[in-house]
Amino acid sequence: MIGAASLGAVCLAAFPLATNYYRTYYGTREPFYGSPVPAFSSWVQIRNDPYGKGAFGASRNGGRVHQGLDLVTRAGYPVFAAKSGRVAFSGDAKGYGLSTDILHPDGLRSRYAHLSALDVQAGDWVVKEQIIGKSGKTGNAQNPHITPHLHFEIRNRETALNPTANLLDPSIVISY
Ligand SMILES: [Zn+2]
Repeated sequence: MIGAASLGAVCLAAFPLATNYYRTYYGTREPFYGSPVPAFSSWVQIRNDPYGKGAFGASRNGGRVHQGLDLVTRAGYPVFAAKSGRVAFSGDAKGYGLSTDILHPDGLRSRYAHLSALDVQAGDWVVKEQIIGKSGKTGNAQNPHITPHLHFEIRNRETALNPTANLLDPSIVISY
């Protein structure tokens, strides 16, 4: 007979195994983040206009530092999930405008900002390259002189990581 205590122990033991299974599964099939914007021949361009450079770590007003990558695209174009995961947030956020956060099995979180339309909501599971919304100019990107772009972030909890440092698919050519 299995007592409540031993059953509880089995359940507790099973969850880390499941987590490790999914990490290994997606880690093997999706070792890298794909381009969240349409990439012609796997080529993406980083924003560079008088209102700011789109590189990770570029300076911003008030001593702030750019926490993501600004990928040039046209307003109204599709935005793709860079990796499979679960939508943690989809709505209006200060500065980011309409934006979506996806939590991935590797524990990292990706963010897609300044969107004009949201196609998923919190709790949805999404697969890599699924359309999650449309690009736009909401939040801090509303100035007409700011080049239309997708603000893309990858975070480990609160810490922003540089997507171009071993996270984005190395076959994507990034032009600055
Ligand atoms: Zn940005």
